Amino acid sequence: METINEILIALKLEGSINGLSTGLEDWKGQGPSLSSYSPVGGELIGEVNEANEEDYEKVIATAQEAAKVWRDIPAPQRGEIVRQMGNAFRTYKEPLGKLVSLEMGKSLQEGLGEVQEMIDICDFAVGLSRQLYGLSMHSERPSHRMLEQWHPLGVVGIISAFNFPVAVWSWNAMISFACGNACVWKPSEKTPFSALACQKIIKNVLKENKVPEGVSCLIIGQRAIGEKMANDSRLPLISATGSTRMGKAVGEMVGKRLGKSILELGGNNAIIVSKEADLKIAIPGIVFGAVGTAGQRCTTTRRLIVHEDIYDALKEKLVKAYGQLRIGNPLDESNHVGPLIDTDAVKQFEAAIEEAQYQGGKLISGGKVLKGEGHATGCYVTPALIEASSSMSITKQETFAPILYLMKYSNLEEAITIQNDVPQGLSSAIFTLNMREAELFLSQKGSDCGIANVNIGTSGAEIGGAFGGEKETGGGRESGSDAWKAYMRRQTCTSNWSTELPLAQGITFDL
Ligand code: NAD
Repeated sequence: METINEILIALKLEGSINGLSTGLEDWKGQGPSLSSYSPVGGELIGEVNEANEEDYEKVIATAQEAAKVWRDIPAPQRGEIVRQMGNAFRTYKEPLGKLVSLEMGKSLQEGLGEVQEMIDICDFAVGLSRQLYGLSMHSERPSHRMLEQWHPLGVVGIISAFNFPVAVWSWNAMISFACGNACVWKPSEKTPFSALACQKIIKNVLKENKVPEGVSCLIIGQRAIGEKMANDSRLPLISATGSTRMGKAVGEMVGKRLGKSILELGGNNAIIVSKEADLKIAIPGIVFGAVGTAGQRCTTTRRLIVHEDIYDALKEKLVKAYGQLRIGNPLDESNHVGPLIDTDAVKQFEAAIEEAQYQGGKLISGGKVLKGEGHATGCYVTPALIEASSSMSITKQETFAPILYLMKYSNLEEAITIQNDVPQGLSSAIFTLNMREAELFLSQKGSDCGIANVNIGTSGAEIGGAFGGEKETGGGRESGSDAWKAYMRRQTCTSNWSTELPLAQGITFDL
């Protein structure tokens, strides 16, 4: 396997790196230095300077100037540039995927999968650039034409979380670029180098096309930078991905200035397993959903609601499957589970297990912190299975770690009630071969989540659908379908080509 330096060289990121990148090569962040360490083996990935106040102002001004040029480029031509961005991600897929794995700790397959998701959303955005459709409608007045059209917003602020260091940015940025906006991206302070690599790739494409590089701006910093963005009315839209705690704060700040926000926040996702489930597909679906990315996906399966008739048999199979999990370096493809992002996350994992046991839960597998060779960072844990009851308050919280709570149900209405009885509303699934059960789950009386799946797990969404959730998950939608509308402003236009001035609703006004 390559060293970090070799990966950075492949990404042309070697040497000193700016904390900011607005297209001005000689511009360095002037704030404090930020070090990024890999949770995999503890190695230093690099150091980068955060932005200070002056830098922040410069980034916003550069993005504003770039947005004015970008909005005048016809949408299909913007799409052509996004197509080239997708090709550039194809070229750098391997080193970028490796960097994501090293910096965040997810498996190499998932790191590469994240880059593939970026490529996919570029392809989607290219098509979208010819489909930013408005409607036309018949006016009530003679010789009048009514239509609605969509215009770019200006500069979009993107705040992203550590667990998808690059894909979630690209969902926002590529759609936003096609829509004619410039973007300012504040990545997680835990994964700055994955962001720097993306920015470098994008900047080259913008440069080759002779469009202002400020169309894509990066700003490295802590939450204070995110707060500045949320309060900044020069950013008409803030798309923020992260914890519900963060979303509540950002939502309030953006709301106070009557800006727009897309909030993509925490989940507490459940799978219902009916007695009519095909366990051959249910078991891998559950295990991947619960332990994939070491339980650090917003769509991770955190609760399993199992029909009482198959509960014991399913529990036994799960304990067996958990016993076979290999935990270690995520870049070694024989391992199933990599590290948590840092030792703080490990502490939260331990605290949640302790609290679950205090509340009456029974730990039946895992729940340990691994030490010693191959696990020296202290970030590796054995995924936990806990028998629980839905009344335990800990099961209603999102602990961002691999803990799966097992619960029993006796009829589907009860299972759906348990599934919905949490503050979050991101992803949900049912395993059943009974068509009536599946349809009830998908009906208005069924799952209250933004994502509802049948016979697949809760994680692993495709970019073609709108992604997001309800309740404390924030209500935002990103990625496919018509999510693009949030990145534009709608304008209703009425044009009078008659020789009269009739008023709507038949109102007369004679002079
Ligand atoms: P986090 O909330 O700690 O941080 C996310 C981002 O918000 C970071 O860039 C951080 O600097 C910034 N931030 C934090 N507080 C802020 C504030 N008050 N104002 C402005 N910016 C602020 O989240 P995390 O630990 O990086 O990520 C894990 C969380 O993200 C989980 O809850 C997970 O479910 C959620 N998540 C949700 C989705 C989704 O699409 N629904 C996707 C990925 C992650």
